[in-house]
Amino acid sequence: MKTAITSTTIFLSILFLMLGMVSISCAQDQEMEPADTEFYEPEPPVISAGENTSIDAPSDAIILFDGTDLSNWESVNGGEAEWDIEEDGAMTVVPGTGNIQTKESFGDVQLYIEWRSPMNMEHKGQNRGNSGVFLQKIYELQVLDAHENPTYINGMAGSIYKQTSPLANPTRKPGEWETYNISYKAPRFNEDGSMKEPARITVIWNGVVVQNNTEIYGHTPYIGYPEYNKHGKAPIMLQDHNSKVSYRNIWIRPLDNDQFSIKDHLE
Ligand code: MG
Repeated sequence: MKTAITSTTIFLSILFLMLGMVSISCAQDQEMEPADTEFYEPEPPVISAGENTSIDAPSDAIILFDGTDLSNWESVNGGEAEWDIEEDGAMTVVPGTGNIQTKESFGDVQLYIEWRSPMNMEHKGQNRGNSGVFLQKIYELQVLDAHENPTYINGMAGSIYKQTSPLANPTRKPGEWETYNISYKAPRFNEDGSMKEPARITVIWNGVVVQNNTEIYGHTPYIGYPEYNKHGKAPIMLQDHNSKVSYRNIWIRPLDNDQFSIKDHLE
C-alpha cells in the first residue's frame, strides 16, 4: 500500500512538472512580439549586380520547373498546385491558393531559382513582393522586393528569415528577374532527436555571395525564436504571401555523391 502511494505520488509529481513546463513554454510564445526578432542595422550595402546572372541547368540537375507545367509541384493544402503559368514561361503566385511544394523530398542540395517582384507599388515593407524559398519546408530564404523598400534587415530579400541579414543588397528593380544560386547542407540530428550539426547555407543572389556558409539556427517563424526538431528529407516549398511574385528556371542537384578526403590520412 505504502509503495503504491509512493508510486502514485511520484507519477503525479512528474505529471504536474510536465504540465508546468508546457505552460511556461506557451507563456513564453505568448509574451513574444513579432518585433522582438526584427533588426534594422547594419543595413547591407546596395550594389549593382552584373547584367546576366542566369545559369542554365547542368546535365545532372532535376528540372523542377521549365516554364511549361507544375507537374513536379503540389499544393501544401493537398491536390494540384494552382499557381498561374504565364505566357513568358513564368509561374506566378495566385494569392489565396496557398504555398506549393515539390512532390520529391530533398536533403543536401544545390538549388537554383529565378524570381521576380511584381510591379505593384501599392504596398510596402513585408507586403511588397513577399514570397519565400523554404529549404526542407521550414527554413525560409526570404523573397521580397528589396528595391527602395525598407524593412527589418533580417527579413529582407537574401536573408534567412528572422535570422541572418544578407552581406549585400544586389537587388534589381521590380519586374526584373533575380537569381538565387543556393548551396544547402541539411541539419544532422542525434538518435534522441537533439541537433547534432545545424543546417548551413550559401546564397549567391544575382551573382553576389549574400550568405557565406551561414549557420541556420532552426525553423524561421514570424513570432519567436528559431528551434530545431528532428526531421528527414523534405520538399522545397514556395510561399504564397498574397503577392504576385513569379518564378522560373528552377533546378536542383541533390548533393549526396561520395567524395574522397585526405582527412583520414592526416594525423
Ligand atoms: Mg516570405
